[in-house]
Amino acid sequence: MHETPPPLTALTEDWDRALCVVAHPDDMEFGGAAAVARWTGQGKHVVYCMVTSGEAGIDAMDPGECRTVREAEQVESARIVGVEQVDFLGLPDGILEYGVPLRRAIAESVRRHRPDIVLTNNFRDSWGGTSLNQADHIATGRATLDAVRDAGNRWVFPEQLTDGLEPWGGVRQVWAAGSPQSAHGVDVTATFDAGVASLAAHRAYIDGLGWEDFDPAEFLEGMSRATGQRLGVAHATPFEVFSMGWGD
Ligand SMILES: [Zn+2]
Repeated sequence: MHETPPPLTALTEDWDRALCVVAHPDDMEFGGAAAVARWTGQGKHVVYCMVTSGEAGIDAMDPGECRTVREAEQVESARIVGVEQVDFLGLPDGILEYGVPLRRAIAESVRRHRPDIVLTNNFRDSWGGTSLNQADHIATGRATLDAVRDAGNRWVFPEQLTDGLEPWGGVRQVWAAGSPQSAHGVDVTATFDAGVASLAAHRAYIDGLGWEDFDPAEFLEGMSRATGQRLGVAHATPFEVFSMGWGD
């Protein structure tokens, strides 16, 4: 007997600036990018922050070469969904550790971009069922939650506060795309195709996976249709919401 998944609540759209912090190039494109396309279409300002350059992501390619290829693919992928700025923090792919250095790097990005909303990827142990999440995603998501708080405290990482950089405590919520504990969703029906194109832009990466006949549209559709049913639309992306204020 199948249990019907609970309905999702639409995410708020009364904000102007978002920063997306993910471990790897391609992490935004497995669902989140279609939501980004919707928001940039509304005139919102969205910046991508890649903690690593995904340089350990292609088995047949040396990391030195891979870094260049994947950064270029990510910049193009971002452009397709209306994101003009992609920052690469340059931390090591595959071996990220949750801890102060990671929090420091992300906090600096939050202070620089002063977002209302911070997005990251699912950082629960699994994607639901038996699909295990990956260590870099878990470290990045946890560190992002903490870094958002760190960014607002002038006595945490005070060495960053030079050349006009100020603490930033204005992040209202952190949203984790694809979390199995998602209670919210975004209607991406109108921007589904842009999301597909942004995933397809990761050509070298997709080829390197060696998945026979991988079709970005088919892959994304399987997820977005199921989520859409929970939101009452054709296509949706699910998000888990973490409120950063008190009592909301
Ligand atoms: Zn990843």
